[in-house]
Formats: sequence, C-alpha cells, structure tokens
Amino acid sequence: MRKFSRGHCPEVLSVDQAVWTERWLARRAEDFGAKFSWPQRDGMALNQHLLPGLKAQTGDHCSYCDGYPVSPPGTETIDHFRPKISHPAEAFLWSNLYFACNHCQTRREQYDEQLLRPDSVDFEFDRYFRWDFTTGEILVNQRADVADQARAEITIQLFRLNTGHPGLRRRESTRRAAMQAEPLDDFAYRGFVGA
Ligand SMILES: [Zn+2]
Repeated sequence: MRKFSRGHCPEVLSVDQAVWTERWLARRAEDFGAKFSWPQRDGMALNQHLLPGLKAQTGDHCSYCDGYPVSPPGTETIDHFRPKISHPAEAFLWSNLYFACNHCQTRREQYDEQLLRPDSVDFEFDRYFRWDFTTGEILVNQRADVADQARAEITIQLFRLNTGHPGLRRRESTRRAAMQAEPLDDFAYRGFVGA
C-alpha cells in the first residue's frame, strides 16, 4: 500500500454527481437489493471515464496491494472504499473511489472504519507496516502504537494482502529466483526446501 496524492475530481463526475447520487439513493430506498451500475456518459460507462485518472494517481498500481501491472485489463476495477450498498451516498464521491485489482476489490461489502487509505494525509507505509523479505508478506509494524497496529491488521485482513494474492505470488517468484542465484549454504537450503 503505497502512499499517493489524489487529484481533483474530474468534471465528468462532478457535473452530474448529485443527480446520480440521488438516483442511486432512491433506487436503494425502493429496493434494498438493487444492483449498482455505472451510468453512461457519451456512450461509455462512467467507470471507464474515471479509470485513467485513478490509475494515473497510483502509477497504474493497485491502490491497496501495489499489484502491477494489474492484468489482464478486464480485471481493473474501481473500488468503493466505503461500499456502495452500505454507504450509498458515497457511491459517486470522488474521494471514495480507488483503482484496484480484482483480488482487492472482491472484499466487496466488507468494511471497517479502521481501514487504512493510501491517500490519507497521515498515511505512511512504515508507520503501519513492514515487509518480510523472506516470505514476501506484508506485516504489521510491531513498533507502531496499539491503535495503528489494529488498523494495519484489519487492512491486511480485509484486502487479504497475504492470501491468494497475485502481488504476493509475484514477490514470491522474485524471491525464489534470487534464492537460486545464491550459493546453497545451509540457511538458503533450508529456506529453499521449506518453500
Ligand atoms: Zn490489489
């Protein structure tokens, strides 16, 4: 989860944001199970208009797991940080939209107010996390205060940053490749057979 700065809300969203939000709220009030879909604008779904800008902010990396490239392209999604079902008023809120890989986005309705946002002003990776370079896993920073550790933990869990993750698999294969180049001393050997 790399820190990034959010740009201004694009006009394609701001111009009809209020109308779309109102419509979505009305549909939800009518039918709690109503399915969300992006409105069309100039013959294209709104999410397709928004994706390039969101991707540019993170240098095309997934906002949560840093997965890059997020491929195949069909798996690029826009994640509603506060889910659109439980927080319908934020479904078209620019600051609630994040470029995400399919894996991170499948948390769907799981949400916790403690979840970390990579574009929050006080977010720093080192404040909350550290890397375990031997396993390629992202860990809670044990030196962080209790509240920060709790936030890091829930963020790792809900986005499943260490489970079945394409980003993790990539880090794993890099690690294994590096390991094979090392002389096979006892330590590396144990790591290798244990892998
Ligand atoms: Zn991701």
